[in-house]
Amino acid sequence: MKNKKFNTKVIHSGHGADESTGSVMPPINLSSTFKQKNPGEFKYEYARTKNPTRDVLEQLIAEVEGGDRAFAFSSGMAAINTLCEIFGSNCHVICSDDVYGGTRRLFDKVKAKSQNLEVSYVDFDTNVNWDDLVKENTKFIWIETPSNPLLKIIDIKNIVEIAKGFKILVICDNTFASAYNQRPLELGADIVMNSSTKYLGGHSDLIGGSIALNKNEAISEEIQYLQNAIGAVPSPFDCYLLIRSIKTLSVRMEKHNSNAMQIASFLNNHPKITKVYYPGLEDSKNHDIAKNQMYGFGGMMSIVLNTNMEGVKKFLKNLSVFTLAESLGGVESLIEHPAIMTHASIDKSIRDTLGISDSLLRLSIGIEDVTDIQDDLEEALKQI
Ligand SMILES: *Cc1c(COP(=O)(O)O)cnc(C)c1O
Repeated sequence: MKNKKFNTKVIHSGHGADESTGSVMPPINLSSTFKQKNPGEFKYEYARTKNPTRDVLEQLIAEVEGGDRAFAFSSGMAAINTLCEIFGSNCHVICSDDVYGGTRRLFDKVKAKSQNLEVSYVDFDTNVNWDDLVKENTKFIWIETPSNPLLKIIDIKNIVEIAKGFKILVICDNTFASAYNQRPLELGADIVMNSSTKYLGGHSDLIGGSIALNKNEAISEEIQYLQNAIGAVPSPFDCYLLIRSIKTLSVRMEKHNSNAMQIASFLNNHPKITKVYYPGLEDSKNHDIAKNQMYGFGGMMSIVLNTNMEGVKKFLKNLSVFTLAESLGGVESLIEHPAIMTHASIDKSIRDTLGISDSLLRLSIGIEDVTDIQDDLEEALKQI
């Protein structure tokens, strides 16, 4: 069928029934090498370069993101690293300031050394003087929306318009939203990147990354070349897990969205919470932009507790439905302390400027019964 809609795509894209066996689900093809008819005459050659299970996944991701091509990687960081390699040395990047800690670490502590990468971190909520900001060697704008951990919202269409004027690319880390809630390629972004470890995987049992892009032969070929040359590719088994997981992306995201909306409203009215960061709340910053560019607001939120470090630790100890753990996007509810956990690699002075304080907690709302999630939070809040 042509022009499948989203919920059909997640289930059917990338494969039909297997031609040789009729198997309804795509097989896991573990072969590392493939027989050639004559030297140089083959469909598959060597499994790092290309393999049948990864092909299914990449086709599936391309269609789900509304793009032309997609590439799968062994982690989100491997995908980001590969993207940096496209632009060679001495390039300048404009990056949203509230960005995943690992992205900042890769840019500032690895790529700055190895590629002389220079990054300007920008709070897009302020008045940006683009003429001053864009340099001759600026290659791309990196945006993460909603952001981690403060759920900042960036107007993708607006950034795309600005970037077009300067002839630079827009790359969007779509991990927090997932393609169900937001499709940056359809809003004009050139490239979308995901940590598929999170919502695409959805079950906290794999590490993976993806890149999808609108039609652009030159960049597609470059990414394909680098994917093989660098070799940070996922195993066929992980590709299979992702293909299986993406089939339920829509039903999972719907539940993440509705559970999170209810929990955010509950916490927003709670006397022991000073602030809730959730783009679905009407009083949240840039709610209108989120409403415009997202199909749902996602399962991620951050909260500020009206207590000190001791109180925060006590609160965490008293939770039982939530697990204290890094990562997000799984079916189970998780909670974490950004300053000590996910964002510890960011210098304290930068954390303070961004607003990542010691009483900030990040929640990944799972798809359990929402009343159980709410009761768990309520009970633990009573103890502080
Ligand atoms: C987790 C994450 C990454 C990194 O992905 P890995 O799969 O852990 O390598 C990048 N961006 C965001 C927003 C993330 O949450």
